Amino acid sequence: MNHPILLNGSILSQQKNEELKKILSNYPTLSLATILVGDDKASHIYVQAKIKACQSVGINPVPIFLSKDTTEQELLEQIELLNNDPAIDGILVQLPLPKHLDSYKVLESINPKKDVDCFHPFNMGNLSTGISNFAPATSTGIMMLLDSIKDQWSLESKNVVVVGASNIVGKPTAMLLLQKEATITIAHKKTKNLKELCLTADLIIVAVGKANLITKDMVKKGAVVIDVGMNRIQTEQGTKLVGDVDFENVKDLTFAITPVPKGVGPMTISALLHNLYFLYQHYHTKNNNDLR
Ligand code: NAD
Repeated sequence: MNHPILLNGSILSQQKNEELKKILSNYPTLSLATILVGDDKASHIYVQAKIKACQSVGINPVPIFLSKDTTEQELLEQIELLNNDPAIDGILVQLPLPKHLDSYKVLESINPKKDVDCFHPFNMGNLSTGISNFAPATSTGIMMLLDSIKDQWSLESKNVVVVGASNIVGKPTAMLLLQKEATITIAHKKTKNLKELCLTADLIIVAVGKANLITKDMVKKGAVVIDVGMNRIQTEQGTKLVGDVDFENVKDLTFAITPVPKGVGPMTISALLHNLYFLYQHYHTKNNNDLR
């Protein structure tokens, strides 16, 4: 069998960012507000990466750092200020929030027209009904990766198993795939016979957070495998970032596969920037109140 196609998100995201930078140069500078509550180290790293990515394409980042004991009322007031500020095009609240804050309530308070993460129930609803393909960034990033091989491999009528049913990855990804007329099964922690299900899949997308969950006995020859998982494991050489797929042993079975790192991760950030442009195009340049 031929070597698998390595779906390199580092390279593709750079291409996508360059394309976006060119497009954005025709418009007034867009501004993205990022709200980070507390001192979680990983969240700080993610937010910094998003700020840097904004700058690389000519988006103006507006970082807002709030102390870990910010009250829900204070956070909601901050969001309301940004909702009403015409200089702000998108608002992102970095998750997870400290435990005393209700994430659902906070995300619901963001104006859907500025909901760059697409976590607001209104935007998720439009995605579910198929009215819109505006989706959370990881899901959009996955579609960009699949689109990069569309000349050799099409989604239409394929059997897809999405392993992981979270609101931020599994469910919205399944909705986008359904829009492409694939047949979707969503597996989760109570799913029985995960191996048998995966063996029926032309495409496996896994977003769970368990290293080596998907092993070579679970993958059909010629399948496409997208690994969203991010797990830090201890090795003799120190800590290492790995996905949910046993990449070394699975890769030769596949038609195409994402590595971890340099697979879905960089695409997520690129897709976030594209999401900001989508919001601008849809809700500002159309000059109407159509939220779709
Ligand atoms: P989550 O914890 O919200 O959801 C995990 C899902 O996996 C749940 O639906 C759960 O039912 C399911 N699950 C748990 N154990 C399972 C099992 N044994 N078999 C099948 N399903 C099982 O997680 P999340 O926020 O969706 O993130 C999942 C992983 O993706 C994490 O490793 C996270 O770090 C990573 N992630 C990566 C990116 C990226 O850009 N690369 C973005 C978001 C999340």
